[in-house]
Amino acid sequence: MNYDKKTIRDIDVSGKKILLRCDFNVPHDKATGIIHDDTRIVSTLPTIRYLLEHNAAVILLSHMGRPHGEWKKELSLFSARDHLEKLLGLSIPLTKDVLGPDTKAKCAALQPGQAVLVENLRFRIEEEQNDPDFARELASLADIFVFDAFGAAHRAHASTEGVSHYLPSVAGFLVEKELNFMGKALEEPKRPLVAILGGSKVSDKIGVINNLLQKADTILIGGGMAYTFQVALGRSIGTSLLDAGHVNYARDMIQKAKDMGVTLLLPQDNLATQDFSADAQPVLVEVDQFPENLMGMDIGPKTIESFTAAIQGAGTVVWNGPMGVFEFPAFAKGTNAIAGAMAQQKDAITIVGGGDSASAVEQSGMADQFTHISTGGGASLEFLEGLTLPGIACLEDK
Ligand code: AMP
Repeated sequence: MNYDKKTIRDIDVSGKKILLRCDFNVPHDKATGIIHDDTRIVSTLPTIRYLLEHNAAVILLSHMGRPHGEWKKELSLFSARDHLEKLLGLSIPLTKDVLGPDTKAKCAALQPGQAVLVENLRFRIEEEQNDPDFARELASLADIFVFDAFGAAHRAHASTEGVSHYLPSVAGFLVEKELNFMGKALEEPKRPLVAILGGSKVSDKIGVINNLLQKADTILIGGGMAYTFQVALGRSIGTSLLDAGHVNYARDMIQKAKDMGVTLLLPQDNLATQDFSADAQPVLVEVDQFPENLMGMDIGPKTIESFTAAIQGAGTVVWNGPMGVFEFPAFAKGTNAIAGAMAQQKDAITIVGGGDSASAVEQSGMADQFTHISTGGGASLEFLEGLTLPGIACLEDK
């Protein structure tokens, strides 16, 4: 996939109506609308501001949750709209329908320097179906399509891919940043490239491991998925998470890493417990002496030390997936230690590939010490897999 896409800097937006696809699908309280994390809204502000300052009229588009074509009050974009109004200091009307008379009237009346937000696109089933008539009608509201919803880039929906068939289509600044950092990190990395993978299931990361084996110098595997690799090496793992259907796959990957000269490091020790609970007492367990009745919940101190040493020698570090059950403070040490080790690498390119590891870094207060924290969970995973993302591929090349 070509990552060198035209952006709003490469075209004249003055006096034009812009369909700007954002990702305002923010975690929020369904009853009160209170937003828990506004990262996705904040990260697209530079694009919105640029367009408004350059005399464009901006029609904001987004989805929220999965209403599957039904009108659901709790998935309205009203709280995102209220928050955006505060951040921009600008009144932003929210349409009362999706592509109905109210949307059309508000968009027709829109003047340069003004913005309107169209209600949750997924209230119409045609959005997720990438219905061509729906996409054409959406496109007819504007002169140019700008894509800045990296978190939705892996979906071929009407507002992410469909509209690009009818309008000149370019990237916003958030998508440009994601392509520059994530794209370059894997295509022309400052070496050594160290990839850190964690999280629960091997099956979710098969594509990522396959792709990273071609590109990385070192791969560190922690989290729940590491236990399947330990079993592949003939070790006992007690009652730890096991992806039994992927033991052979893990064995093949260990062999492939050897054949390709990629260093693959697994945990040497773990914090384990009897029960999966927040106040369970952690027991330190060596990898070759795993008691039958315990479950691995985090990486241990020796592992933290060896993973930190690998990170310290890196030119680029890419991380996806927590090292343990970081939602329980007693088992967040490994994840926090990796975040800390990456944050200290001032000369390396440090990238967090979305999802839980991104939230862990945000919570740690060290986010500003990283080169890039991706806003896309599923999208950044597909990016790390080397897949073509439809919302990116459809944009004009430079
Ligand atoms: P994923 O969505 O695959 O990135 O997985 C994230 C989840 O993996 C988090 O909710 C963690 O609690 C979970 N996780 C990490 N390590 C373990 C472990 N050792 N056992 C069970 N779950 C884990």
